[in-house]
Amino acid sequence: MGGRDSGEPALGRRGRDKSKSTRTAVSAWRERENVDGAAIDVGVIVLRSSGCAHSRDGGCSMCGYNVESREGVAGHDLEEQFLKAAPPLEDVRFLKIYTSGSFLDEREIPSCFREKVLKWCAERHARLLVETRAEFVSEEAMTAIAGIHDDLEVAIGLESANDKVLKYAINKNMTVKDFDRAAATVKKAGAALRSYVLLKPPFLTEAEALEDAIATTKHAALQSDTISINPVNVQRGTTVESLWRNWAYRPPWLWSVVEVLNSCTSLERKIVCEPTGGGKARGAHNCGQCDGDILQSIREHTISQNRTSIKIPECGCREIWESVMELEGLVADGTVDLQRMFRNRGD
Ligand code: SF4
Ligand SMILES: [Zn+2]
Repeated sequence: MGGRDSGEPALGRRGRDKSKSTRTAVSAWRERENVDGAAIDVGVIVLRSSGCAHSRDGGCSMCGYNVESREGVAGHDLEEQFLKAAPPLEDVRFLKIYTSGSFLDEREIPSCFREKVLKWCAERHARLLVETRAEFVSEEAMTAIAGIHDDLEVAIGLESANDKVLKYAINKNMTVKDFDRAAATVKKAGAALRSYVLLKPPFLTEAEALEDAIATTKHAALQSDTISINPVNVQRGTTVESLWRNWAYRPPWLWSVVEVLNSCTSLERKIVCEPTGGGKARGAHNCGQCDGDILQSIREHTISQNRTSIKIPECGCREIWESVMELEGLVADGTVDLQRMFRNRGD
């Protein structure tokens, strides 16, 4: 769903099951996250479901999560996947369940299985984070899940607070109003809200994308407890990948990621960012020399939740980024990856 949903952490990045078996989860791992002021172990399970309903209608321009889905996955398959993946994560106090779709979509995740996951977490006093598209968030659905487990976080992909960007650049099939309604419903049910903000949808210049992500973060902050900044990474089989292959798209610069994060320092919200594929051609990247240091600073910033600005190294590529920010809209109709075109580098 959206953020991891496209920034959502990378799908199956560790120990990924490539068999596409309906009986085995896509992947499961532990990661660290700052929860209530302390860095703790968080369990993550990516279940193989029948996939995102919107993906069957074309899907979002940057999302390739449907490759992990499989038609006809039933509740008992999901249960088997979960029961195999969960035991090593018994001790965690925070569990994230990703389905590459919507946990609240009954067609994708039957309520009988949903209840089992909620009970599993309630018995272990573990917070549960699930993702969903806004259209599946209803008072009825929220009351049902919050009645089983009261320590819930619901993640929704807002992506952009601009309806035109949502429609024409992302094809999200959702409006900002839809998101606002779903967000209020989550909060009314007493659950925490995590919102995904997309940095650099296609067809926006670097400068437009930066402005859009900052405005979106501010909008998300009106109702969210946590905001996840998700720089686009080029996933296989997507519109973004087709553009990228034709030098018509460049993932965001890490300088832009830093700008968005630094614009959030006055927001009283938890801000997380883990650029999928960071430092690589398909992910947010700079020149290759300074990428590692910046990624490390972003990681430390996310874990510490320190409100100060991110430390940045000195690097000559910052001037190139500044020129791109100033000139890209003037030299090209839409975006173009001039740097890569001139270097004639593939992936
Ligand atoms: S809503 Fe969009 S980004 Fe989220 S899983 Fe569906 S197609 Fe992917
Ligand atoms: Zn550099």
